[in-house]
Amino acid sequence: MLRSINSILEKDAFSKEDIIRLLATDTEGRTFLYSRAGEVKASYVGKKVYYRGLIEFSNICGKNCYYCGIRRDNHNIKRYNLGDKEILDAVKYAYDQNYASVVLQSGELESKGFTDRIEKLLKEIKRISNYELGITISLGEQTEEVYRRWFNAGAHRYLLRIETSNPELYKKIHPDDERHNFNRRLECLKALKATGYQTGTGIMVGLPFQTIEDIADDILFINEFDIDMVGLGPYIEHRDTPLFKFKNMLLPPEERFQLTLKVIAILRIMMKDINIAAATAMQAIDPMGREKALMAGANVIMPNITPGKYRDSYKLYENKPCTDENAEDCSSCLEARIQMTGDEIGYGEWGDSRHFMERNKNNHK
Ligand code: SAH
Ligand code: SF4
Repeated sequence: MLRSINSILEKDAFSKEDIIRLLATDTEGRTFLYSRAGEVKASYVGKKVYYRGLIEFSNICGKNCYYCGIRRDNHNIKRYNLGDKEILDAVKYAYDQNYASVVLQSGELESKGFTDRIEKLLKEIKRISNYELGITISLGEQTEEVYRRWFNAGAHRYLLRIETSNPELYKKIHPDDERHNFNRRLECLKALKATGYQTGTGIMVGLPFQTIEDIADDILFINEFDIDMVGLGPYIEHRDTPLFKFKNMLLPPEERFQLTLKVIAILRIMMKDINIAAATAMQAIDPMGREKALMAGANVIMPNITPGKYRDSYKLYENKPCTDENAEDCSSCLEARIQMTGDEIGYGEWGDSRHFMERNKNNHK
């Protein structure tokens, strides 16, 4: 078994069967997988971790995804929407801490008011940071025109997880209607790339009904789509959601966690120079989850800088860590944790996806 893992790791390209073997590998095999991913990371993107200060500015959402705690029909939470000043104060905090980039994330709204507000905020973030802060946004499915307006206003990276590349599974975890349509999500991803964003996608690992073959297909999808950034994490059940009733079908959390680490490691080895985020959901299962993700190939961390009093209300899943802390408390603890992994923090550096740069160079030839 071990010999076959090592022979797969020596290959230049992985077949679907290879990926399935890697995903199924045992404790000893996975150590080889993670260490190979660590080597690829060190030689292609370096041992630097880039920060993106995460501002979860509103939990108001027009959608009803079956897995998510802030879905429209969950009436068990208090809805909030940060004021512009609160958002810009968090931005200033990131700038003062030398984080170099921020991420704006929220529930999904498609309206003129929302589009205009984000456009104005993006311009303001650029202005108050002396045009130095990089901006990632993760605001769901929008029209191509909206994507273009936000790009022109200063956002240059966009995260939109495909969630699963299997349209049948997609249907099982979303309502079957126009607002939750697999093809539209795919079209949005294409539009983001065409607009010029560094485009990020990802999946949830360990969903009910998801098979190892599905995850192997997801990895191949991400590779074929030639994505610049990956943000993925384990699925974590939330009691106020429709998927909760399938909780007995799930892998134990530790196995979901290891499976997620393997997906990260395989993507690092296959795609080499992309950016991969160590998602907060990793830490919901294992207190050292994000650090372990860094050692398996991730190179981006998104410290939560949402004002403390709102954190408890942005619960996409249960056990979300650090929901009762202030941003300041997190930053010194995080620095020490990252140093333990042997990585260094790229303060003041955008740390853009090298894959994106290469992709663009080739396009211009
Ligand atoms: N509304 C936007 C951004 C916020 S949701 C969007 O949907 O794109 C960000 C991500 O949280 C989603 O893409 C999903 O993958 C993840 N998420 C939602 N519920 C989750 C859960 N129960 N467990 C793990 N991740 C979850
Ligand atoms: Fe809304 Fe995003 Fe949650 Fe779906 S995953 S319900 S779009 S916040």
